[in-house]
Amino acid sequence: MHTHLTIRPRHGLWEPGRSSRITHVTVHCTEGATAKGAASWWQNAAAGGSAHVVIDDEFLIRAVNDADTAYHARGVNAYSLGLEIVGFARWTRDEWLDHPERLEEAARIHAGWCNAYAIPLVWSTRAGFHSHAGLPGNDHTDPGDGFPWDAYVENVRSFLEGEPVREGGRSLRLFLPNGKRYGGWTREESAGFDGPALGPVKWLARRRRPAKPGTVLTWKGSRFDDPADLPAVARTILNRTEDR
Ligand SMILES: [Zn+2]
Repeated sequence: MHTHLTIRPRHGLWEPGRSSRITHVTVHCTEGATAKGAASWWQNAAAGGSAHVVIDDEFLIRAVNDADTAYHARGVNAYSLGLEIVGFARWTRDEWLDHPERLEEAARIHAGWCNAYAIPLVWSTRAGFHSHAGLPGNDHTDPGDGFPWDAYVENVRSFLEGEPVREGGRSLRLFLPNGKRYGGWTREESAGFDGPALGPVKWLARRRRPAKPGTVLTWKGSRFDDPADLPAVARTILNRTEDR
């Protein structure tokens, strides 16, 4: 279980409010050893930027609220959420996979954002997710060629497909298809971290297609008895990620 902290970046390294609707998650790595180290770096004017959340194996740090603009990737900040995973762009796949805690926690946050803002789980520079590397107008290489995108996306998908259950109105427990159980935050603790995802937790898509007969899928308040009738963006969440 990660310890949750809020550490705001220095004024000027983020901006209150947004000029565009949130449609995107940019995945970064910090090029440093700890989440606290990254958050402290953002206290420094020389840092030149910030991100919404930074995660290592022990800490989940909320730096900028979703509703505010972090400066994490040129050109996309207005509509993107910046997710910093502690690690190095030079890491090999095996080095990343040696840190499952941070990869799973990042995937959990990513899935929460997909749900909160109807962001499809697809590789995209506009509506979906993308590495910082390869975003137009950016010269960064993170999170690097060794980043295990397949495992990461599978984690996000597991959270999207998990069954959320509120226990006593206070805790969120997520039961994953593999039998693992996850969660345990109180509403108060989690509010600052999951943002609008909390409140009534709304999962857009609980199951991968084909849905079992009788399964009712909902999207933005409308019912869809046949998944084929879902809007494309909702079907995308239910289906496989696009090829990168
Ligand atoms: Zn980056």
